[in-house]
Amino acid sequence: MSLQEVYALRSQPLLSSRSQSGAFWNEYTETMPREQLDQLHLKRLQALLRYAYDRVPFYHNLYGEMGFAPEDIRSLEDFNRYVPTIDKKDLVNAQAVDPPWGDSVALSPDYYIYHFQTSGSTGTPLRIPFSLHTQMQYGEQWAYLYWGVGIRPNDTFYFAFPWGMYTGFWSAYWGVRCLGATVMSGGGLTSEQRLRQIEQLKPTVLVSTPTYAIYLAELAKELGINTSETAIRYTIHAGEPGPGIPTTRQAIETAWGAKAYELYGVGEVGAIAPGCPEQLGCHFGEDQGYATILDASGNPVGPGEVGENVVTSYIQMAQPVIKYRTHDLVRAHYDVCSCGRTWLLYEGGVLGRTDDMITIKGTNVYPAAVEYLLSDVPGLSSHYELHVASGNLNDEVTVKVEPSMGVSSTSYHSLERDLQAVIKAKIGVTIMVEVVSPGDLPRYELKAKRFFDHRPKTV
Ligand SMILES: [Zn+2]
Repeated sequence: MSLQEVYALRSQPLLSSRSQSGAFWNEYTETMPREQLDQLHLKRLQALLRYAYDRVPFYHNLYGEMGFAPEDIRSLEDFNRYVPTIDKKDLVNAQAVDPPWGDSVALSPDYYIYHFQTSGSTGTPLRIPFSLHTQMQYGEQWAYLYWGVGIRPNDTFYFAFPWGMYTGFWSAYWGVRCLGATVMSGGGLTSEQRLRQIEQLKPTVLVSTPTYAIYLAELAKELGINTSETAIRYTIHAGEPGPGIPTTRQAIETAWGAKAYELYGVGEVGAIAPGCPEQLGCHFGEDQGYATILDASGNPVGPGEVGENVVTSYIQMAQPVIKYRTHDLVRAHYDVCSCGRTWLLYEGGVLGRTDDMITIKGTNVYPAAVEYLLSDVPGLSSHYELHVASGNLNDEVTVKVEPSMGVSSTSYHSLERDLQAVIKAKIGVTIMVEVVSPGDLPRYELKAKRFFDHRPKTV
C-alpha cells in the first residue's frame, strides 16, 4: 500500500456530509419546512411507540395503565396529550428492581457495545447501554455541529478531559470518527501536560467544558504560553452552559483566538442539540428526536417562553426514552434561523435547571440569567457563584463574582452597585453582590459548581 493510500484511509469518514452546501451536514433535514418536519415526527413517533410497546415491558405497562395503545396515537396532538412524561427516577427504579438493566431496555446486552452511566450528582446513577447503531447516531449529532461551523476531516481534535463513565465526550469522539478527522487524547494528563501537547502537536480544535477552557488559558498565562497563538481555531464545549452566554464566550474566544461553539447533550437521550453556527443558541436535532417545552403544570408553553425541555429520542434504541423530562430550562423559537436551519432553536442554550429555580417575591429567577448579565458590567469576569438561603419571606440570593484581571480593588464597591442595578433593571429583583479577589473562586476540570443551595431540603 502506498503512503498516499494510507493517508486516504486515515481520513476516510465513517459517515459523510449529505449536502451540496458546506454550511450543512444534512441540508435536507436541517432546512426541512416545519410542516414536513411535523409529518416526519409523527411517522417516527408512531414507529417508536410501536417498537417500545412491543419490546419494553416498562412502556407496555405504563401505556396499558394510561389506557392507550400505539395505534391510538394518530397525530402530534394525540402524542402531546396522551403519552405521559417519564423521569430519570423511573428508569433508575427499574434498574434497581431488576439489576442491572431492569425492564426498560429494548435490546438484550448481547447488542451493547458500551455501558455508560450518569454522574449521580442528583441521586443514584442511571446506567446507559449503547448499541453500535445508537453510538454512531450519538456521534453523528456532533458531526452536524463540527461540519456546520466549518471543521473538516483535515482538522485535529484535542480532547482535554478525563475519559470516564460519562457518555458526553465519548460521543464527541464518535462524532470525530464520523467526520474522519484526527483525535488526540489529553486523558490522564495534568493541565500543564495538556498545554504542552497543544503547543507541540498543534491540534486545531479544543474539546472541553467551557470553564476548563478558561482555566487552561489562565494557567497557560502563568506558564508563559500564549494560547491565542496556538493552532487552536475552534473550541467545542458541552457539559454546562457557556458559549451561549456572551461573557463566557468572549472570555474563551479572546483567550484562545478561536471561535467557541457548544452542543447541548443529555447523556441518556443523545447529543440532542448542536450549537447554531451563528452562535444564537442550540438547534434541537429534529431528524433524531422530538421536543416539547412544558410549564410546571405539564402544559406546552408558547414560542419564546421559558419551560422545561421534554424530549423523545429516535436514536436511543437500546434503552428508549419517550417524553423524557430533562429538567433543563430552555426558550425555544420555531422561526427559520438566520443560519438557515428550520430546527427549533434553544435561544442562549440551556438557561438553567428546574431544580435550581429561585423564587424572589413571586419572580422566578434561574441562575444562568444572572450569568448573562455579568457581561453588562465592564470589569467583571465570568467566574461567579450563586448562593441561595431562606429568608423570612423569600429566598435570599448572593452573587459572588471575580473582577477581570487588572481591575483595581478600589473599584470593587462600584462594580457591586452596578451589577445590582443591572439585575434589578433586567430581572426586577434585588440580590446581594459581593466582588471577590481574582482567583478566589474554585476552578473545575469538568462541570463547574455555580449554584449553592443553602435552603432546607423539602421532601
Ligand atoms: Zn441557527
